[in-house]
Amino acid sequence: MNALPPSDRKSLAALTAALPEGILLTTEADMGSYSRDWSGDHFGRPLAVARPRTVEDVSTLMTICFRECIPVVPQGGLTGLVGAAVAAPQGGEVVISLERLNKLRSISAIDFAMVVEAGCILEQAKNFAEAHDCVLPITFGAQGSCRIGGNVATNAGGFNVLRYGMTRDLVLGLEVVLGDGRVWNGLKVLRKDNRGYDLKQLFIGSEGTLGIITAAAFKLFPRPTQVETALVGLRSVEDAMSLYARARRECSDLLTAFELILRGGIDIALNAGTGLKEPLSARYPVYVLIEASAGGRVNLKAILEDFLGDAGDLVVDGVVASSKAQAERLWLLRETMVETQGGGGRYLRTDVSVPISKLADFVTDTLGELAKHHPEALAVTYGHVGDGNVHLNIVPPHNSTPDAIEALFHETETIIFDVVDRYSGSISAEHGIGRVKQKAFLDRADKVTLDIAGRLKDAFDPKHILSDGRILGTHSSIGGIA
Ligand code: FAD
Repeated sequence: MNALPPSDRKSLAALTAALPEGILLTTEADMGSYSRDWSGDHFGRPLAVARPRTVEDVSTLMTICFRECIPVVPQGGLTGLVGAAVAAPQGGEVVISLERLNKLRSISAIDFAMVVEAGCILEQAKNFAEAHDCVLPITFGAQGSCRIGGNVATNAGGFNVLRYGMTRDLVLGLEVVLGDGRVWNGLKVLRKDNRGYDLKQLFIGSEGTLGIITAAAFKLFPRPTQVETALVGLRSVEDAMSLYARARRECSDLLTAFELILRGGIDIALNAGTGLKEPLSARYPVYVLIEASAGGRVNLKAILEDFLGDAGDLVVDGVVASSKAQAERLWLLRETMVETQGGGGRYLRTDVSVPISKLADFVTDTLGELAKHHPEALAVTYGHVGDGNVHLNIVPPHNSTPDAIEALFHETETIIFDVVDRYSGSISAEHGIGRVKQKAFLDRADKVTLDIAGRLKDAFDPKHILSDGRILGTHSSIGGIA
């Protein structure tokens, strides 16, 4: 502590005096797991890590931070991957981990609603819902690690967006500790409430820059009693998109997932050494993993099989899982691809979106540009078709030097983002802006958007102590990539 600059020592002394015992971590060893994200690519040097046990603790913490101008960054499960949830690499920020605020506060199978604290792991919140025969339909690969506050702060999507919408569509209310320590109680489970501004929407997707979310009320849905999974092989992304539009109509909008995977992704999963086998009788350029779910007296399997049978002009080959275990094996292909795509090394992640109707042209154009300028790079392509979201990740050739990797990442990202711009898409459809996408975001944002966003930031956080340098980046520089 003595090696710290006097201002940091003063900050720590003020926090230690005000907070109950056992909340602050200050040694490098204790703070290690709060300093690096899920990918290992983004790191930070926190001044301290605060782990509040109650909303009052968060309020006390923010009151002191506001008074003393101590910068903070709220942290969930560290799966956001844009350098937003780790402290700034140059030091000085206090990380606020919400991990101890993790309780279910209430749940009602009549309201079809639950109130859960921000530090609850998403999978645990889903289990709470299931225990009441309901479903919280936020579903994706990181659900065993990410936390509710992070999901709200990034407006998380996932496999089920095509049926239930994003987190924004599912949040009924929020409780938020503001930058000056006041608690805003916007927690309610009302379906309809038109009393003035819908303030909760400002915090959803705000990446910790406007307040610390401490609890959220969510819409729930009846838990499906039937789930059917199929994997199909197709000739092109264009055919996949035609299949998507048809499937939504002909399966009575019962689809809960429609995941596009180009062949390269299947190869990655099969070569990962986990014993996965070629899933269909031959290799196809494009695959789609389809899930449909329903409750009640619907013959879901017949609907899906009839649909796929009738779609023979598009579907070249396919399998409908005959058991839960087989369905899990099909999903494992996708999970394995995501987890092993970098082969243990660094790779460029992008999470872009375009209008759904343009997705096929977008993928064709982008892969064409990448192949022309960087044939040596492997482009891994997959996405949640239902939200027009596609990942085009770039894996560098083996034995590339760090400098060559940096150059490749910069050039390929520029190519991808340029095509996104041509299709009026978004350079960040999932992970947010954080610090990593900040320049690309600011370069594209129009003046009016930036003016409104800047005024909101000033109103909620006049001293710029909340996640400063993320999204708008007024005071910090971009950085933190190891
Ligand atoms: P963190 O990474 O800890 O934080 C993310 C942001 O939220 C930061 O800005 C942080 O400061 C802020 N924050 C965290 N908690 C709070 C709080 N209580 N109050 C205010 N701000 C807070 N995302 C998708 O949308 N769809 C996907 O399909 C998807 N798939 C993924 C698959 C994998 C394998 C991985 C690693 C990530 C995936 N993601 C996906 C991205 C990521 O999981 C989500 O963005 C997730 O919502 C982040 O939650 P977290 O708890 O890990 O947040």
